[in-house]
Amino acid sequence: MSSVVDIKSLTSDELKAFLTENGFKAFRAKQVEDWLKKGVLSFDEMKNLPSELKDFLKTRCYISVAYIEKKLKSRYDKTVKYLFALRDGEYVESVVMSYRHGMSMCISTQVGCKMGCTFCATGKSGFSRDLTASEMLAQIEAAQRDLDIRISNVVLMGMGEPLDNFDNVLRFLELVTSEQSLNIGARHITLSTCGIVPRIYELARHDLQINLAVSLHAPNNEIRRKTMPVARAYPMDELIKACRDYFDTTGRRVTFEYALISGVNDGDDHARELAQRLKGMNCHVNLIPVNSVEGAGYTKSDIKRQQSFVNILAAKGIAATVRRTLGSDINASCGQLKRNHKSKEDK
Ligand code: SAH
Ligand code: SF4
Repeated sequence: MSSVVDIKSLTSDELKAFLTENGFKAFRAKQVEDWLKKGVLSFDEMKNLPSELKDFLKTRCYISVAYIEKKLKSRYDKTVKYLFALRDGEYVESVVMSYRHGMSMCISTQVGCKMGCTFCATGKSGFSRDLTASEMLAQIEAAQRDLDIRISNVVLMGMGEPLDNFDNVLRFLELVTSEQSLNIGARHITLSTCGIVPRIYELARHDLQINLAVSLHAPNNEIRRKTMPVARAYPMDELIKACRDYFDTTGRRVTFEYALISGVNDGDDHARELAQRLKGMNCHVNLIPVNSVEGAGYTKSDIKRQQSFVNILAAKGIAATVRRTLGSDINASCGQLKRNHKSKEDK
């Protein structure tokens, strides 16, 4: 174990082992966890610990936090977007959305992304580093504290590709669903991926009961390769096969994300081709009018096109909806808040 331990990324068993190996009683682990759960920011706040243990923790560990650097509230609905600063000065974005069934939060899993999708602001900014499990938790905790709410649904759909940070994401999923941490049910968690096929099989084998969303954004490989470089490594047929396996293994219905880009992937023929590919699959297609991103040169499909696309899918028996956009006034699509913040800093 490294000399500086990220204490909030440890599971209960690991924390217990860490403390007992260093000469402390096992029951101290529960006390430490209770304080961490309360959201303390320093070891000095852990009042019922002996000073020997506090000193030990101070020299060997750190508590991960996400500081609110910027906060935007929608004028139209209750959506709140955060830009969080991490301990090394990197920034990530998260969004809190209010639905009838509760509060949902979209969190980041990496600082930037390596995948380079041409329509995505995060993809355009390049990659800095993976987030630790505790940094994923810290985003949720910071929003809960700031808004005095409890988050009931989590989507891994912010900056980054979760399956490219697989071990930390798995650790996060273990922690966030545990009673000792935020205790959010796996069925209330959705992981979105651009389609790293071997990892989808691996995820299915963990049988976590989380929902899988797959960013498809094209009806065939030719179009997909142009907008999503990951399609060059993992062709669409293989991706769809992996999604069928995910459903067969976990029983969880897969959602396909499809950003409608005018003149690129939104034709009636494209809708028919997509329907053909997804035939017989227990899935749902989420259509999203693409958010325009500086320098990408894409525009969203108009309402008539959106409607025609969704009608063709429906006629072919594919469940599809055009996603309601929340916080449209602040939803400079994912990655843009950070981009704007950075370019201001650079000036
Ligand atoms: N890397 C993962 C999760 C983060 S991206 C993934 O790609 O799935 C979250 C979602 O936002 C993905 O479905 C992504 O394709 C979509 N997205 C990115 N840029 C967008 C844009 N400009 N308009 C609409 N959706 C976009
Ligand atoms: Fe990365 Fe997802 Fe953006 Fe593609 S859409 S660049 S995978 S964050």
